Amino acid sequence: MTNLDFSGGYDLPIAGRPVKTVETIGVSNTMSVSAIDLHGLKPIMDKQEGEEVRAGEALFHDKNDARIKIISPYNAVVKEIRRAERRLLIEVVLEVKDKTPNKVIEPVNLEKIKEEELVQALLKTGLWRLIRQLPFNIVADPEKRPKDIYVSCIDNEPLYPDLNFVLKDRIKDLALGVQLMKKLTRGQVFLASAPSESEIPAGLREIPGAHHIHAVSRYPSGNPQLQCYWVSPLRKNDVAWHVNPQDLLAIVDTLRSGILCEDRVITVCGTGISNRRYVKAPLGSPLSTLLGKESTDGMRILAGGVLTGRQLKADGFSGLYQHSVQVLPEGYEREFLRFMRPGSDKPSYSRVFLSSLFGGSEYAMNTSINGEERACVQCGACEEVCPTEILPQFLFKAALANDVEAVQELGILDCSNCGLCTYVCPSKIDLDGIIKTSANEILKEGLV
Ligand code: SF4
Ligand code: SF4
Repeated sequence: MTNLDFSGGYDLPIAGRPVKTVETIGVSNTMSVSAIDLHGLKPIMDKQEGEEVRAGEALFHDKNDARIKIISPYNAVVKEIRRAERRLLIEVVLEVKDKTPNKVIEPVNLEKIKEEELVQALLKTGLWRLIRQLPFNIVADPEKRPKDIYVSCIDNEPLYPDLNFVLKDRIKDLALGVQLMKKLTRGQVFLASAPSESEIPAGLREIPGAHHIHAVSRYPSGNPQLQCYWVSPLRKNDVAWHVNPQDLLAIVDTLRSGILCEDRVITVCGTGISNRRYVKAPLGSPLSTLLGKESTDGMRILAGGVLTGRQLKADGFSGLYQHSVQVLPEGYEREFLRFMRPGSDKPSYSRVFLSSLFGGSEYAMNTSINGEERACVQCGACEEVCPTEILPQFLFKAALANDVEAVQELGILDCSNCGLCTYVCPSKIDLDGIIKTSANEILKEGLV
């Protein structure tokens, strides 16, 4: 067992929490399969608009490894292929023709399955995409084996699902999932849980075969990149993998039954809506179903949280890895940066607002950042809050100068993309966005 504490981190006291009752939502008439969330994948389409697709057939695959394919969970027709600038594939929208669950593989014996059979089963079912590699947070390479695998049962990004609540009746299956992951590494399977024994589900900390991490609750302690940095750092050319516990349960359920499990428990919340709750729904569910009759005029909708989420249009769908849909009122003082960052009425990290005198309050934030980007004033707030000992104020400058050597020396590969440096910066510099763009360039050019 390892206790994990770290310097930096910060809990954003944002209002708009969901109530802890789970509403179950089935498959909608229109569903989406996300491509934009699959970092590092170069999608090649296997189906075109108007074509029929059967459950288990590939919709698209990775240009670099055709075995990594993304399958259709349903018998459906490809209704729309959504792309962004430079034909970047965002998602494939399906018109579902048959909502009954579909068998996509023969059931496997989870206790007896061998390493190579497991890899093949995950590739065949398209579930391989749920396993991601550190650094870069990209879809894992089936040819490599990781130093360690992380399963983090803490998700403390603001307003994300409480995993103690979500996982409480699934500990036995989670233990099976850990045994599966052990077949894929000669190293450790690290299982992280929250610090308080009273909060975590019975049996979680006794799951055999895992190396247990007891982490402090401060954001972003649930982040696998942060856990890797503090618990078992990577040497040059090492990789680690991570898989979300809900995704691991979907792997267990699918391989055991042969029927593709797409359901996840997500939060639908934020101060922009009133019906804030937990929802069990298939991945890629339409916002029209998740948000129901809520008006989203003048609102910003996010797949994910306010620190790391991506913006959705009103006709969008829930994301692949982001187990939260959050709605916040727009602040119209200034058009927002690349991504969401809560601003007005914000609590004061730097204690410049009165709010800093009143601890424990939660704030109904909107999307305004209250000002323009200015030059760095060397206040050190980003360095103070960074949970992986990076100096973001130097790293972002090296990134803007395209100095590949300097950004690596400054620890760009340790960045957990927690978004805190951007949030606290009084000069409104999108540090996290600049660092992410630089990391993507390094990945694209193969410069590590
Ligand atoms: S550099 Fe910024 S985004 Fe990266 S870990 Fe540090 S605070 Fe988080
Ligand atoms: S928080 Fe912003 S202004 Fe302060 S040192 Fe970091 S980059 Fe500079």
